[in-house]
Amino acid sequence: MEPDFIHLCQPGPEKSCGACCGLYNYAISTKEALSLRLRSRTALFKEKVSGPEDLRFFSSEIKRRESQEKLYEVIYCCEYLGFIDAGEKKVGCLLHPLQNGGADLRDASFYGKELCEGHFCPSYHYLTREEKKGLVNCIDDWYLYGLCVTDIDLVKEYFRFISQAIYQAPCAERFKEDELKKIALEFFSLKIFWPFRSQETNRFGKYYFDGSQYMISHIDYQCLGCERSRFDKIFLSLASCFHSKEELIEAERIIQSTIDRFVDHYRNF
Ligand code: SF4
Ligand code: SF4
Repeated sequence: MEPDFIHLCQPGPEKSCGACCGLYNYAISTKEALSLRLRSRTALFKEKVSGPEDLRFFSSEIKRRESQEKLYEVIYCCEYLGFIDAGEKKVGCLLHPLQNGGADLRDASFYGKELCEGHFCPSYHYLTREEKKGLVNCIDDWYLYGLCVTDIDLVKEYFRFISQAIYQAPCAERFKEDELKKIALEFFSLKIFWPFRSQETNRFGKYYFDGSQYMISHIDYQCLGCERSRFDKIFLSLASCFHSKEELIEAERIIQSTIDRFVDHYRNF
């Protein structure tokens, strides 16, 4: 592994990601709902699992207790994802050897040990080192981190607009500074609090599922009487739906102002 490798799944003690284990694929995937699931699984695992022979019971008990309603049926939601620290800051695999005194129990899972161990999502390849570090430095909440680290367009576009304004890629270290961190966090939090988010239940970021395949849900600018927005990719990542030109203009204002605030502070302090 190269020395400057950034482990996006488990970047440090403040947070981690469990997106590819199906974390966000439940029909109700709010932070509160997911926290309850993960907490109760972790407690059950600690109470009932002392070896591989207990996993069949654990799996069926979780499936009995929890709603199995999903966003996309074709994406598996792994029942072995839980909290791996006492403070519930990190989501992770309850079957991992670090959770089981060195015993690797992942072969009992749907994907199996090899797939679980060897999987690196596209963000590992497509995000630059500075983008990865910048993101890791400004988001400490597991729920928001997992949503953003897997959204390549959102991250790349944010960095691109900032880079264009300051004529260089923003230094990832500076994302640790209180004010810059706060401003960047406000932008990434739009992933949860975006006022123009589509209410369609089959949407996940820019994708929707038509029952058989994923499609990108494009914005019909012609219908709004506008040109394609410079923030189109960001709007898609935020699962946007606009009902009027005025809504689109307001959305552009919100995005531009958060970028401007970052740039001003970056330049002047
Ligand atoms: S989605 Fe990517 S960063 Fe998240 S757990 Fe999977 S491989 Fe790691
Ligand atoms: S068994 Fe695999 S899919 Fe399930 S939580 Fe562990 S790493 Fe994720």
